[in-house]
Amino acid sequence: MGVRENLEDVRTKIAAAEHEAERAKDAVTLVAVSKTHEADMIREAIAAGQRVFGENRVQEAQRKFPELKQETPDLELRLIGPLQSNKAEDAVKLFDVIESVDREKIARALAREMAKQGRAPRLYIQVNTGNEPQKAGIDPRETGAFLTLCRDELGLEIEGLMCIPPAGENPGPHFALLADLASENSVAKLSMGMSGDYEIAVAFGATSVRVGSAIFGARDYAA
Ligand SMILES: *Cc1c(COP(=O)(O)O)cnc(C)c1O
Repeated sequence: MGVRENLEDVRTKIAAAEHEAERAKDAVTLVAVSKTHEADMIREAIAAGQRVFGENRVQEAQRKFPELKQETPDLELRLIGPLQSNKAEDAVKLFDVIESVDREKIARALAREMAKQGRAPRLYIQVNTGNEPQKAGIDPRETGAFLTLCRDELGLEIEGLMCIPPAGENPGPHFALLADLASENSVAKLSMGMSGDYEIAVAFGATSVRVGSAIFGARDYAA
């Protein structure tokens, strides 16, 4: 199946999951994760009506997206991978949404760059719901304190929370935890769910799902 057919299939499944969960039609934004795939593949998705894309590396996105954004001005680009503070300037310049805010140093660097550039990407805080040592994201117990720092001290508006559940675990409890943290802290949006579990995420209240391989096929990291 090609990108167009895959996209249609994913959209149909999201719509069914929205209906099943008694959520509004189009309550969920599909973020097409295009990392490792070249611009021509991304153009196929754009031709099929897709407008929101996710990339996990600043440099890779810088190589592919300026031209794509010029061709398709209403395209929205989201950073879903870890951000180093020395890349904050580039990230603020290129991305419309940054989903991986997960420590004070990054929050401060982003606040500084946003003021300097007069550009304000929408921001999500990544939460390490499984408390995995190797994984990015704040400790779930620190969500309230980190939000206070971002909002009150740095003046950052936080649009949502994001998580990546541990591989091989039932994702449901992680999605439920993220939804609880959002509601306790008055955060509006939830970025959760990938190719293997986006329908479950929709049932738990995801407002966006990040789907890569189910749209673009398997990734070739050796390339
Ligand atoms: C790669 C990636 C995805 C998409 O993964 P698939 O399993 O291919 O859908 C989603 N979120 C993040 C943070 C990613 O890095």
